[in-house]
Amino acid sequence: MQDPVYLDNAATTPLDPRVLEAMLPHLGANRGNPSSIHARGTAARGSIEEARASVAALLGASPAEIFFTGGGTEADCLAVLGLARAAGPDRRHLVVSDVEHAAVRESARGLESEGFEITWLGVDGQGLVDVDEFAAALRADTALAAVMWANNEVGTVQPVRELAAECARRGVPFHSDAVQAAGREHIDAGQTEVSTLAISGHKLYGPQGVGALYVREGTPIAPILFGGGQEEGLRSGTENVAGIAGLGGAAGLAREELDRRIHHEAELRDRLIEGLLALPDVGLNGHPERRLSNNVHVSVRGVGAESLVLVLDALGFAIGSGSACSSGGDRPSRLLLALGKDEQDALSAARITVGKDNTTQEVDGFVEAFAQAVERLREVSPLYAN
Ligand code: PLP
Repeated sequence: MQDPVYLDNAATTPLDPRVLEAMLPHLGANRGNPSSIHARGTAARGSIEEARASVAALLGASPAEIFFTGGGTEADCLAVLGLARAAGPDRRHLVVSDVEHAAVRESARGLESEGFEITWLGVDGQGLVDVDEFAAALRADTALAAVMWANNEVGTVQPVRELAAECARRGVPFHSDAVQAAGREHIDAGQTEVSTLAISGHKLYGPQGVGALYVREGTPIAPILFGGGQEEGLRSGTENVAGIAGLGGAAGLAREELDRRIHHEAELRDRLIEGLLALPDVGLNGHPERRLSNNVHVSVRGVGAESLVLVLDALGFAIGSGSACSSGGDRPSRLLLALGKDEQDALSAARITVGKDNTTQEVDGFVEAFAQAVERLREVSPLYAN
């Protein structure tokens, strides 16, 4: 069977063969522990520091501000728990947007049981946080504010620079989850006054299970893992050298190819949006302009998201069901409900996310298959009257 056309790059991107090349030397018999002082150890240490410099360059940071983690989830947890716990006993309040990834949301909820109070910040119908509302939510005792750079479901890009500037002015640490944005948006931590930024290898053509947290120099942050004191004591545990080398390689390629990727993806995205919105009763979710270069998210009246994904899979196209954002299931997306969509729309959403290697022909083929799938499903749908 032919490989399906892959249009689910927000879930995970394919591993770039050039990245795999960078990882292979660390997966064989000659690997070393970066804490060892012999030649194998120092070679591994060298690869880690090379990767650190590469990730720093992608984010406009200095290498000393980059800490490797076991993925985007861990980077988010470290930021939220670490910043809040380091803020001191007089700061027990958090401001967190309603549209955060579960890694941020559930970490914040965990802090509630430690006595923190949370202000949950709503978004408008297109998924945007309001800067004035955000500013009004900050308090003298706010330990941390968190708003993601770009949303993983509908792709809305937040006004992070303004939000971070407000926090810097008020002396409040600010975390932004840039897992979906890194490699798709120009990120300059030096110019944007964020305290921390989370990224993940497998969303930018790197390996799964590795990520990084940018921590602005001088930001108080407490570790959440304890042990041998690796990563300056912030993330103990023998480093995932192959993964880190892969993340470094992926970051280097993303930096080199960023403008080309954004341009190519945005062209495909817009072609898709035009094709899909030409179908009856298909509506775009998220922001029409402030959206990730690769994200198309639609609600398809009368069609269950999971059935649509499975029919398209059979037709040779892999997409995401817009309602099952974590581990599957047919509950309506809490994000779409937060955007004010009704349950019907929230249950009938599809996320199509293109990547750097998709082609115009693939996208055109997809639009045809999508129309076919929707027609078939509507014919048998008790929910669709036309
Ligand atoms: N944050 C966002 C916005 C994501 O999309 C994801 C992954 O889906 C994560 C965090 C978690 O990253 P990881 O899969 O590397 O744990």
